[in-house]
Amino acid sequence: MRVSQFSVRIIGITLLAVFLTAVSVNTLSLNEYRNLYVQKSMQNLDALSENLSESLLPFLVSEVDIPSIATTLLQLDRHDSTVFAQVFDKNDQQVFFYVNPAKQTEWSDTTLQDTQLKKGFGTELVNKLLVSNKMIGDESYAVGSLLIVQDPESSLKQSANTFLKKVIPLLVFIASLVGFLAFSMQQRVLQKLNLVTSFVRKIKHSGNKLERLTIENKDEIGLLAEQINEYLDTINNYEFKIQKQLNDLEENKQNLEKIANYDSLTGLPNRQMLHAILRSALAREQRRNADLAILYFDLDNFKHVNDTLGHDVGDQLLFQVGERVSHLIREGDLLARLGGDEFIVLLINNEQDYYPPSEVAMITAQRIADNLKKIFYINKWEVSTAASIGIAYAKQANFDTELLLRNADIAMYQAKLQRTGGFALFEHAMHARVQRRHEIANSILRAIQTKELYLAYQPKLNQQAEITGFEALLRWEHPTLGTISPVEFIEIAEKTGKITAMTSFVLDNVISDLFILKAHFHSQVSVAVNLSAMDLKSDTFKQQTLALLVRHANHAPNLEFEITESAYLDNFDAVNEFVINLHLAGCKVSLDDFGTGYSSLSYLTKLDIDLLKIDRSFINNMENGKADKNIVETIISLANNLTMSVCAEGVEQLAQFDYLKKIGCDYFQGYYFCRPVPLKTLLETYPKTGTS
Ligand code: C2E
Ligand code: CA
Ligand code: CA
Repeated sequence: MRVSQFSVRIIGITLLAVFLTAVSVNTLSLNEYRNLYVQKSMQNLDALSENLSESLLPFLVSEVDIPSIATTLLQLDRHDSTVFAQVFDKNDQQVFFYVNPAKQTEWSDTTLQDTQLKKGFGTELVNKLLVSNKMIGDESYAVGSLLIVQDPESSLKQSANTFLKKVIPLLVFIASLVGFLAFSMQQRVLQKLNLVTSFVRKIKHSGNKLERLTIENKDEIGLLAEQINEYLDTINNYEFKIQKQLNDLEENKQNLEKIANYDSLTGLPNRQMLHAILRSALAREQRRNADLAILYFDLDNFKHVNDTLGHDVGDQLLFQVGERVSHLIREGDLLARLGGDEFIVLLINNEQDYYPPSEVAMITAQRIADNLKKIFYINKWEVSTAASIGIAYAKQANFDTELLLRNADIAMYQAKLQRTGGFALFEHAMHARVQRRHEIANSILRAIQTKELYLAYQPKLNQQAEITGFEALLRWEHPTLGTISPVEFIEIAEKTGKITAMTSFVLDNVISDLFILKAHFHSQVSVAVNLSAMDLKSDTFKQQTLALLVRHANHAPNLEFEITESAYLDNFDAVNEFVINLHLAGCKVSLDDFGTGYSSLSYLTKLDIDLLKIDRSFINNMENGKADKNIVETIISLANNLTMSVCAEGVEQLAQFDYLKKIGCDYFQGYYFCRPVPLKTLLETYPKTGTS
């Protein structure tokens, strides 16, 4: 059994108490003993001196008998404590001086002589010495006196020693007994306390998963144990609740982390996580002075898939793209979805790579581009898509996360312009292009108001080379950027949502110019306005246009709207409804750039179209290959069968004009006849033929 510090202390205190009690009892009894001893010695001395004085009487009556006195006093030898005795005659002259031989060494003569004691009769204690002074004879007849001096101390010491020898063992025995009893009593209490202490200690070390404390007695310690058990149960309950809350919190945290860091659709890391990983990867590579590449890609026709096949198919396409690309990159590389159809691949540099990072990036980009061109099977659909991939390097972006992403985005945009479904490497020159785009986008609205934008009209002629109408085309003389091609700014306006404002501007101008054109040429003259796919998606634009046509009903029959085949088919029902309304308003509708988008001709029967404009590229290529001649011929005969007129765009040579005329083309437009020119130039170039 382990004896605790506490019990050692208690036992120590108990033993000390017992010891102190024993010592004080001993001292008290010793004192008492001494008093009694002195008293007893005094009585004895008194009796002794009485006896001796009586015995000495005869030797002092007539004359002093010294020898007898000496003999008598020899008795005193037997009384150890006697130091000396003196006998005086009736004149108080000392007649005999006795010294106990046993004391002679202790008490030298001089000391004895010095011990002059006062003489009064009786026995008393003087300076620790017992002094007895007795008259010899009686008061009526005194013959002398006897003085006996005793030293009780030495005999007292001896006697006290004897006393102690008897008492101390007893005291030791009693002290041991009391100590033992105290010890065993304490042990019984402390054992339980120890049990509680070691239990509490165990809780401290092993937590609150212990069996409960069992102390059967219902004494204070038993109650304490019960309280501890109850307390532990309460803690247990709390612990359980807290643990549950912690688990919930952890789960919530993980969910939040997942939501915060992963894309719910594809399960890929999202923009936020990409940023965090990219930042640390860039810092690492910068320290090693190594380069790192990212690929930025999106799907070229994702919007089209979404619009035609529905969002469900669109979502599944994104998911499958994620899956497919995940298998095309190495372990350690990172594929993340930025949002929409935009993805990022972070290519982690590997020192063991055979190819340098720049080539790894291109090889990977090519692999991704090739694989994404392969058909995707979604529900019952075979969906084909392609990716444009921009590649950017960390060093070029000075290891800056934002700049690196922007560079890759710019490169992707470049890849898109190439229209090859491949990749482009970022070059610093591309930045200038992006800045130019920003500048153009930001000055569109100003350009509309300040007339930097204006219209050019390109004549459209019939087989007799007579002007039947014009196509209105936008021109922009920018104060700092100079002439900007519509091919450039139309696309930017579409992307930045400013195209409808532009189209409305064109329409307003055409309507106001129509009055002049009709007067100068003839009343049936037509003016074609190009509509963007964005215009056709804007209900506001469509409503405003129809309202405008009602307001200018007199000009409506002279208006023609050019819609590209892709804009028509991307949003077929809505566009068709608008086309019907345009027809109801008295306008004509033509299908622009025919042949560039959908390769199937079968849908033509479904479109409510007056005129089909064959794309310039076919007319251009007619001389080069027989194939394009055949296509143009087929288109013309098909259109004739469908009672649509046909217009050839981009006629630049007489031969083209002649041939197209021969195969039945109705209208012609091209540099051969006239470039697009401002209204003023047009009026100056062509003499007035109109009657009004
Ligand atoms: P588009 O609608 O196909 O317009 C015909 C384009 O062909 C015009 O280019 C015109 O100048 C050009 N062109 C005409 N004849 C010839 C020729 O013989 N040879 C060659 N090489 N080109 C010829 P432009 O004016 O540069 O316009 C380009 C495109 O910009 C237009 O193609 C049209 O898609 C768009 N665009 C121009 N103005 C507008 C507009 O007001 N609204 C909309 N939505 N788009 C417009
Ligand atoms: Ca056009
Ligand atoms: Ca065209």
